[in-house]
Amino acid sequence: MSDVNTGVPAVNESREKSQDFIREIVAADVAGGRATVVTRFPPEPNGYLHIGHAKAICLDFGVANEFGGYCNLRFDDTNPVKEDVEYVDSIKDDVRWLGFEWGDREYFASDYYEQLYQYAERLIEKGLAYVDSLSADQMREYRGTLTSPGQDSPHRGRSVDESLDLFRRMRAAEFPDGAHALRAKIDMRSPNITMRDPVLYRIRHADHHRTGRTWCIYPMYDFAHPLSDAIEGVTHSLCTLEYVDHRPLYDWVIEHAGPPSRPHQYEFARLNLSYTVMSKRKLLELVERRHVRGWDDPRMPTISGLRRRGFTPESIRDFCGRVGVAKKENVIDVGLLEHCGREDLNRRAPRAMAVLRPLKLVLTNYPEGQSEDMTMANHADDPSAGTRRVPFSREIYIERDDFMETPAKKFFRLSPGREVRLRSAYFVTCTEVVKDASGQVVELRGTYDPVTRGGDAPDGRKVKATLHWVSAAHAVDAEVRLYDRLFTSEDPDGHAARSDTDITALLNPGSLEAVQGCKIEPMLGAAAAGSRYQFERLGYFAVDPDSKPGAPVFNRTVSLKDTWAKVAGHT
Ligand code: ATP
Ligand code: MG
Repeated sequence: MSDVNTGVPAVNESREKSQDFIREIVAADVAGGRATVVTRFPPEPNGYLHIGHAKAICLDFGVANEFGGYCNLRFDDTNPVKEDVEYVDSIKDDVRWLGFEWGDREYFASDYYEQLYQYAERLIEKGLAYVDSLSADQMREYRGTLTSPGQDSPHRGRSVDESLDLFRRMRAAEFPDGAHALRAKIDMRSPNITMRDPVLYRIRHADHHRTGRTWCIYPMYDFAHPLSDAIEGVTHSLCTLEYVDHRPLYDWVIEHAGPPSRPHQYEFARLNLSYTVMSKRKLLELVERRHVRGWDDPRMPTISGLRRRGFTPESIRDFCGRVGVAKKENVIDVGLLEHCGREDLNRRAPRAMAVLRPLKLVLTNYPEGQSEDMTMANHADDPSAGTRRVPFSREIYIERDDFMETPAKKFFRLSPGREVRLRSAYFVTCTEVVKDASGQVVELRGTYDPVTRGGDAPDGRKVKATLHWVSAAHAVDAEVRLYDRLFTSEDPDGHAARSDTDITALLNPGSLEAVQGCKIEPMLGAAAAGSRYQFERLGYFAVDPDSKPGAPVFNRTVSLKDTWAKVAGHT
């Protein structure tokens, strides 16, 4: 099993700015005379951003902000086949929503295609790159393995002139996909496979979402990335650990292509979350095979999914701060993310009442046709949140779960003959249980005690339970979507096994429960999409964009129960 990290420190605002090894490196560079720190966040627009990207965003923008520098938003759009403007737009929305601004520092690797092409010609002229004509399969064979060295391609000895000529004709669309490739001439026997004459350019006759058909050759990441960094004057190019082996190539490209500045790459551990897949390829598969309703399905670990689910940007930044930046990979308990969401919503979400599975309680001694407003605090711990008026009347919905005809031992809520409190309203007692022909409880009858108005008895008598409720005459019908983990497996990404299991087998069939016919207090009926509430006793909920006038839909962000705090020993 993977090493699940539960020992993450508790909330502490200063942690967000705490020192990690990246910040130490940057601080040392600044102390050593570096005038301006420039970082970049370089998403490939081939999918929506996920919570792992949020970690990178918080680091890239966070470091730049803390050192008074800049962070560029650069789209790494070098693979036309998989990229799309839909993704570009969603990425911008998500970065902005997370709370980061890039101003006019928005760049695209595709803006540098001409410059990159010139750098490539320069390498050929220096005898440091050549056009190879092996097929992809042959190239793989010649590359060797971790334990065996590679072999030189028969085209490695091509003259500068021949390679230049072929490369220009590649650009001029004279060849089909795969006919040739431009490769760096480094060392086919290097113990680092990345250095075995890596491909720098390949032929791809495809529509690019920005450059259309202008180009039919496209630079590879390992060539485009360092040079894009250098063109933009990036000083600290922060990426995840899988690029450690690519760093010698990054440095090689910078050294030999001779761009205007000299950036450096630093690697940190990517974010892995239990019960979560975090590869864009797998997330795309979930979307395409319709296992979820889209990239922003509230069960997805995407930023748009978390937003739709009701997470605040503050809670995601807090989470990224607490996870920290380390050099060694581990797996973070998804409960920590839920904990951060809950903690922030507890502070800011106004309280409201909603009944998910309604059972009607008719108060027979309450005058028919009468109603009154109860005053309720919007936030018990925050008087500045004010109060609201909630209508009360003769027929009330309570939660079906809050009634047991024959109460179990520790069940203190409503049962026949028992008195409970309806929050901020009255003490009520159940006097009669109405059933249908099949014996199902369909309604309760009871009485209320008028002197307990507001929720306290003047004679000091106590009740053991306080229930939430909604007045039947005033209630608005709603759909409430309850979520569970998308995967039943703790490690659906296969970090532990390093295997590529079919993720569909690991899906949790109960990850979404859409409860219809919920009854919510009238004020909630007009809540705008995106607004967040605590439903008393049920958790935190956000209004879903699927809501229609008169037919609101809510997503449960998190329940009130904090399993992570328990595991971690907080409380
Ligand atoms: P894939 O998910 O398909 O492996 P990717 O996440 O690397 O692709 P990019 O768009 O290239 O996709 O990522 C942009 C930046 O976000 C990169 O700098 C990358 O290192 C960083 N990043 C991606 N995933 C994570 C993660 N899980 N944790 C931290 N940073 C990440
Ligand atoms: Mg990547």
